[in-house]
Amino acid sequence: FQKLRQNYYPMYLKNSKIIVIKIGSSLLVDENKKIRKKWLSSFARDIKKLKDKNQKIVIVSSGAIALGCKKMNFNKKNIKLDKSQAIASIGQIELMNLFSQTFSKFKLNISQILLTLEDTEERRRSLNAKRTFENLFELGFIPVVNENDTIATTEIKYGDNDRLASRVAQITNADTLILLSDVDGLFTKNPKVNKDAKLIKIVNDINKDLKEINIKGINEYGSGGMQTKIEAAKICQLAGSSMIIANGLYSNPISKIIEKNNCTWFSPKVSKLHARKKWIISSIAPKGNIVIDDGAKKALKLGKSLLAAGIKNVSGRFNKGDHIKVLDKKNNECARGLSSFSSDEVKKIMGHHSNEIQKLLGYVAKSEVIHKDDMVEV
Ligand code: GLU
Repeated sequence: FQKLRQNYYPMYLKNSKIIVIKIGSSLLVDENKKIRKKWLSSFARDIKKLKDKNQKIVIVSSGAIALGCKKMNFNKKNIKLDKSQAIASIGQIELMNLFSQTFSKFKLNISQILLTLEDTEERRRSLNAKRTFENLFELGFIPVVNENDTIATTEIKYGDNDRLASRVAQITNADTLILLSDVDGLFTKNPKVNKDAKLIKIVNDINKDLKEINIKGINEYGSGGMQTKIEAAKICQLAGSSMIIANGLYSNPISKIIEKNNCTWFSPKVSKLHARKKWIISSIAPKGNIVIDDGAKKALKLGKSLLAAGIKNVSGRFNKGDHIKVLDKKNNECARGLSSFSSDEVKKIMGHHSNEIQKLLGYVAKSEVIHKDDMVEV
């Protein structure tokens, strides 16, 4: 039974139809700023094997800033945001050249997709991106994705490719997301300072299984940190994808996952949600919060819409159609949805019966603050 269990996840990866693979900058460029060409070739060889089995692959690659710095001989740590945007513009083309040269040796065709936060957070734009991915799959190309660092500013930036990759996994309906990092996976403690730190092999329920673990305390190990990887895992689980954190420093990193299985797996939640609801639940940047009373919470549990009468408080600034979180009295998140009103309007109508809305606002409006079709329980 143990063996069966151990083999289950590598089998799941082998059978995944769509796989998103994220690679961090530290895998492409070493501490001495040398490009890890040999490694990239071994990675391309792995990708070739997957493609030969008709698996559809998306690569999310960091490295624009690292390669831009390398070209300009700058130190990454001393660069301000506006300069880093220019550096990313210089480095992105280096990054794609590197991929193109390496992958063409294996007869693999690549294309480039640069995304901003809004491209995944706005429904219409995320559907456009989805279609582009599907068309590229059909053409047999491997999309290589990065954040469009040249225009993204702090407020509208992913900032890390872990969460961007999880959103790409959700948009493409991927079976598995692999985050290739420079550590073996998620540990019980920071392995760099604790000898008794253990690698966590499987996480089924993030809240329950990781309750005892001080994520902030272990965030230091691995160059990208663990916090954003766990955020990414939450999005994947809700979207019905599995996620792996694995050490990508080895040659042939994907084959290693299948052979050695020395990594952390986040199992997918069986999700019966429609694609649109999956998109709602995995929003990266909800614009505000609504606190509701117990009566409204009960109604939500029964699958009903959220009405103004049950709202106790509003925070944040949002417009009609924006993503918001619904919290209970104890500030626990109980749902997410798209608001039918702006935050200013909600302030005016909260606590009131739906048939008073027209009088309070001075115009005809919807009767639900979040319609049940636009809401997902968490
Ligand atoms: N998009 C950034 C880059 O290409 C990297 C972000 C990250 O490493 O998570 O340099």
